[in-house]
Amino acid sequence: MEERRTEETEHNMDTAILSRIEIVQGDITTQEVDAIVNAANSTLLGGGGVDGAIHRAGGPAILAECRTLGGCATGEAKITAGGRLPAKHVIHTVGPVYRDGQHGEPELLASCHRRSLEIAVAHGLKTVAFPAISCGVYGYPIPQAAGIAVQTVAAFLEGHPELDLARFVLFGPDTYNAFSSALRRLGSGQQEGEHGC
Ligand code: ADP
Repeated sequence: MEERRTEETEHNMDTAILSRIEIVQGDITTQEVDAIVNAANSTLLGGGGVDGAIHRAGGPAILAECRTLGGCATGEAKITAGGRLPAKHVIHTVGPVYRDGQHGEPELLASCHRRSLEIAVAHGLKTVAFPAISCGVYGYPIPQAAGIAVQTVAAFLEGHPELDLARFVLFGPDTYNAFSSALRRLGSGQQEGEHGC
């Protein structure tokens, strides 16, 4: 009988970690958290979708601060104050434009989540809300993006007990359902390996 070896390191994500992740359907601009994450473009000078909604709700102070930041690379993140938003800060990150999944998109999307949380921790923030980064005009397939987002955030929370809460705020039922299933899969130990993340 041939020895069976597996490289899998699957484990059920600790329920204490999963309980620090929330998935809700709603509008990210109304969230009362320390920081909301903006799915921005690399100019940081405003755009459509969630970016437009955040600037409209937060007022011109956010854009004025963004103008001083010199843009942002894909997969990176930068922080501003929250203007008139209930959230004290906005963390602007630039998701990848989806081509075929073979151009570093999974790594860049994971990096958006990780860098946003690193910046939150560096500023002593405890609660962060994310939209579905790259899932709008940037065209990332939603189930795959959801898997990457939830796994990356859970792994980060595991190493950072000082962060109390990461909340995904999804605009419509399709994204809400995809993120909910991704979180359930993580709880049952099923990984997203086939999607390359
Ligand atoms: P990207 O360019 O990264 O794809 P988009 O803004 O086009 O960013 O879309 C990202 C996601 O944000 C989409 O799922 C979109 O439906 C969602 N979205 C748009 N407005 C809001 C909002 N006010 N609150 C939460 N999510 C939003």
